[in-house]
Amino acid sequence: MSRRDDKGIGRRDFLKTAGLIGVGSVITAAKVNAADANGQNVPAAQPPIQKVPKRKLGKTGVEVPILSLGFGRPGEQAVLRQSLDWGVNHWDTSLAAANGASEQSIGDFIAKNPDRRKDIFLVTKENKSKTPDDLGKCLQTSLKQLNTNYIDLYFGVYMVNDMVRLTDDVKNWAQNAKKQGVIKHFGFTTHENMPQCLMAASKLDWIDAIMMKYDFRLMQDKQMQDAIDACHKAGIGLIAMKTQAMRQRNASTDPNAEADKKMLAHFLEKGFTEGQAKIKAVMDDQRISTVCSSMTSTTMLMTNIAAALDKTKLAAEDMDVLRQYAQATCSGYCAGCAHICEPAALGVPVGDIMRALMYHDSYGDIAQAKAVFAEIPADVKQRLLSVDYSVAEHVCPNRMQIGKLIADAAAKLA
Ligand code: SF4
Repeated sequence: MSRRDDKGIGRRDFLKTAGLIGVGSVITAAKVNAADANGQNVPAAQPPIQKVPKRKLGKTGVEVPILSLGFGRPGEQAVLRQSLDWGVNHWDTSLAAANGASEQSIGDFIAKNPDRRKDIFLVTKENKSKTPDDLGKCLQTSLKQLNTNYIDLYFGVYMVNDMVRLTDDVKNWAQNAKKQGVIKHFGFTTHENMPQCLMAASKLDWIDAIMMKYDFRLMQDKQMQDAIDACHKAGIGLIAMKTQAMRQRNASTDPNAEADKKMLAHFLEKGFTEGQAKIKAVMDDQRISTVCSSMTSTTMLMTNIAAALDKTKLAAEDMDVLRQYAQATCSGYCAGCAHICEPAALGVPVGDIMRALMYHDSYGDIAQAKAVFAEIPADVKQRLLSVDYSVAEHVCPNRMQIGKLIADAAAKLA
């Protein structure tokens, strides 16, 4: 039965938006508001129904939409215009994404729509800076590519897996950049050892926001919960990424295919796609300011906007389904706890390799997968297949078949 919340879109529209029962009214409204192929304004024949709700980004005080646009791969220019129409004005990119093409794509939009720059909360990231000078160069390149003279949130340390990179030099650089007005807020991103990084960051008064891997699986992790609590209490804005928590699967021999079907059937019955349910599970966590999702097409954008607009909270039984699914399928999911397995893996960066494999197998982003794999030092690559991973597999809390997966990654990405 269709239902309509006071201000939310109706469940029937929600289903339609997800493309489950045809092209719905929400999609139709969105299409008439789209930009043309060059990202330039096209007069809207019909206004969007409503804007995505907002939450404060910690102590920055800035209100950001609970859904933010990940634009790590340059997508349709129409996505940029349309996201603004629906209030999704938190745009996330990075210097290195698609060899700069992602930032340039946003920069093209800003060049054609300079009046909209003030409406965008623009977020980007450094790339492999070793010194404050490097950081300054990264920032200047980003400003140029993005056609702007300031970044709203700068992740000046990208992919932190321990805290050694958050030095006083970096702190001084961040404070100077803020004084100059070239960045408004400063933070870091983390895909590995997130609880440890977050807990340590909660004690630093110069970190405004953190973008971290967080999903319905990591919600079961007490350390992660404690670290999120600590950051939230410290006023650090929290941005969740990789919320789909994709797992490795082999279609022909997948022992968990039934678990997938059961979970999917449960949420379809409730009117959610699998992806929408996973996003909502994170959005329902009020400590998380926004969920950053990679959206390169208007269809992806509208499906996620539908999830953000739907005001129905997942019920306890829905969360139980996700919890049971997480337990049943954990052996295919790398939780990023590299401090556990890597000491037993003789210098092999297991976490990075699992992430590369995820980009390849789950996201179909071959370029990103190869780029991550290419970072592995040549001497380590040479011995990837000869290392005994049995101890690493034994200590892995998810009992991942690390040796097999690394061989798979080497075959696909070397
Ligand atoms: S392989 Fe296992 S121990 Fe290593 S990072 Fe992934 S989940 Fe953690």
